[in-house]
Amino acid sequence: MAGFDTIAIHAGQDPDPRTGAVAVPIYQTSTYKQDGVGGLREGYEYSRSANPTRNALEQAMAALEGGSRGLAFASGLAAEDAVFRTVCRPGDHVILPGDAYGGTFRLVAKVLANWGVEHTSVPLDDLDAVRAAVRPTTKVVWCETPTNPLLGIADIAALAGIAHDAGALLVVDNTFASPYLQQPIALGADVVVHSTTKYLGGHSDVVGGALVAADAELGERLGFHQNAMGAVAGPFDAWLVLRGIKTLGVRMDRHCANARRIVEFLGEHPAVDSVLYPGLPSHPGHEVAAKQMRDFGGMISFRLRGGEETALKVCGLTSVFTLGESLGGVESLIEHPGRMTHMSVAGSPLEVPNDLVRLSVGIENIEDLLDDLASALA
Ligand code: PLP
Repeated sequence: MAGFDTIAIHAGQDPDPRTGAVAVPIYQTSTYKQDGVGGLREGYEYSRSANPTRNALEQAMAALEGGSRGLAFASGLAAEDAVFRTVCRPGDHVILPGDAYGGTFRLVAKVLANWGVEHTSVPLDDLDAVRAAVRPTTKVVWCETPTNPLLGIADIAALAGIAHDAGALLVVDNTFASPYLQQPIALGADVVVHSTTKYLGGHSDVVGGALVAADAELGERLGFHQNAMGAVAGPFDAWLVLRGIKTLGVRMDRHCANARRIVEFLGEHPAVDSVLYPGLPSHPGHEVAAKQMRDFGGMISFRLRGGEETALKVCGLTSVFTLGESLGGVESLIEHPGRMTHMSVAGSPLEVPNDLVRLSVGIENIEDLLDDLASALA
């Protein structure tokens, strides 16, 4: 079998048979000429149902995650919504991570709850707590690892065992790791979810989402819902993600190398109270992360001794790190989760500490990133 970078560059992306174009063309079309009624060329009928550029991305995603079917959506949350609405009916129950991405929590607690979907939030590193939260109606165990923004680690293989014993699916949001660093299907997950907005796109220029199903039958049901619900990725957005994917491996190596240097620097800085990064041997999830990840990623969170006031000030003082939401792009970003990305969980059990700062470490020169942080922390 081909290596990861070869798959990233070639899967679903054979040169165009008509012109030989090496880059997949952007099929910016809503509909397709039929050769007589029902005479579809290669099955293409209407671009909500299928589009060749989107199909190329979907095939690439399935190959990268080692699944049987990939599906591309307009955003990560649209992809998540498709999973819940495919799998859950009124009265069903889902288990969410104790520090789930705020948008996932909001989707389940504020939207799907109105259609009778129940949930329990559990720290996923506590496997007994996960087992105890299982109900006869549990249909989904939802896992994020590493988590956003606390960088918690969950044991994917152990969670797959618990979910399957309960007759539920294990769904893994692999946004933070990307398939380069972690492949949940090989560890037993049934569905992988991505916000392709992040590392897969990689250049902060597109919002998108993707699902990969391990099993063809589940992939078929998810595909039915993708078409029925309609939140598909447009051709240009699909193309941007496809282009990003080609360099995923080399970008991730640099994200990880830069993050390691920044973790060292923060760990020794007097203004920093603690650093949250699964690559640190002191991190409670380090061993599990080392077992299931190729490297530890480009996301770092840290807490400041000076509390919220200092955290907010530091976020405003960097110049190479841009103050902004999102993550996973080539450019470094800094943010205050409590006031920015995780506002939607304020007042809930998922509320994050107000002295926390999150970094998405980009691929700029490491000395410039270190100088920038040093001057902001000074
Ligand atoms: N999952 C994680 C871990 C995220 O960080 C995000 C967005 O920040 C999402 C899902 C949602 O993705 P999108 O913003 O593309 O809808």
